[in-house]
Amino acid sequence: MNKIKILDESVSNIIAAGEVVENPASMIKELLENSLDAGADSVKIEVFNGGKDVKISDNGSGMEKNDMMLSIERHATSKISTKDDIFNLMTYGFRGEALASISSVSKMTISTKTKESNVGYKLTAYAGSIRNVEEISRNNGTEIEIRDLFYNTPARKKFLRKESTEYNKIRDIVLKEALVNYDTAFTLIFDDKPSIKTSGKGIENTILELFGKNVLKNLKKFEHGYLGSVEILRSSKDYIFTYVNKRYVKSNTIERAVLDGYYTKLMKGKYPFAVIFLNTDPKEIDVNVHPSKKIVKFSNDKIIYTQIKSAMDDYFYLEERREWQPNID
Ligand code: ADP
Ligand code: MG
Repeated sequence: MNKIKILDESVSNIIAAGEVVENPASMIKELLENSLDAGADSVKIEVFNGGKDVKISDNGSGMEKNDMMLSIERHATSKISTKDDIFNLMTYGFRGEALASISSVSKMTISTKTKESNVGYKLTAYAGSIRNVEEISRNNGTEIEIRDLFYNTPARKKFLRKESTEYNKIRDIVLKEALVNYDTAFTLIFDDKPSIKTSGKGIENTILELFGKNVLKNLKKFEHGYLGSVEILRSSKDYIFTYVNKRYVKSNTIERAVLDGYYTKLMKGKYPFAVIFLNTDPKEIDVNVHPSKKIVKFSNDKIIYTQIKSAMDDYFYLEERREWQPNID
């Protein structure tokens, strides 16, 4: 008899969920990015019980009934179809794994309606298997409700941190998405208490809503985003927000360029507040290296470094020749 067997899908989904749904924050990131990929300009996230119960609603494209039922299958995606598409990504999602993974470790309901359809649909799934599908009436868009995250994987559930820790991680993820998706209105609510609210009225207004007046007034625009003055230096690198093609990334190359750009302006142990939006040909980057898609590989690090560093040099060259005058009201 063979010793090797192909795992049952219900087992392989739970294993995959270990990578996609590390914690409530990473789950919320996936759901949020689905809403953004669906073209939503308003997204509301309500979180309860330390992130074990989550409801996220958007006003995006919605799904037809068949798509809704397929959406929780593994490798089911509307975003790519050929292998060339993987290297030409215009969307956050492409793996078709998030809903399959999340639903396999929770009780999920999806309520959705497209603008082309007169009726909406609601699907209920427990541990990834569909329990019920019904017709409902609702607005255009999608609402996904997760209940009892990790209820069928008690070992994973044990690794959840205390509520405040999970909430901090969630807030951090939502803030990073809200900052770059400044034309979308975000609402984040923890146990009925508002945490983040942006109105989707442009980058500067969003910075104001997320970080307050003092930060906005000490920021200046440069070619690839916003650079903070020495008035708002921080004690950690966490306030260097770097995005490549609207994706928040950790990149040593970009971070190095920013720090080198500030050079002598930084005191020891102090770091700048900066928002870097880099746009590059999707072919030049590989976001496929890590399931969380947080690490990117550039096909040419040196070009990226030089692009940012020289824009900063130009900026500071001009800066030193004029008084610090905020160009933002
Ligand atoms: P991926 O985002 O990689 O395609 P997911 O598992 O996250 O995979 O989602 C599967 C599919 O379900 C998506 O490709 C999309 O067609 C659909 N979908 C998921 N969330 C939404 C949403 N909020 N609005 C509309 N469609 C959605
Ligand atoms: Mg997705």
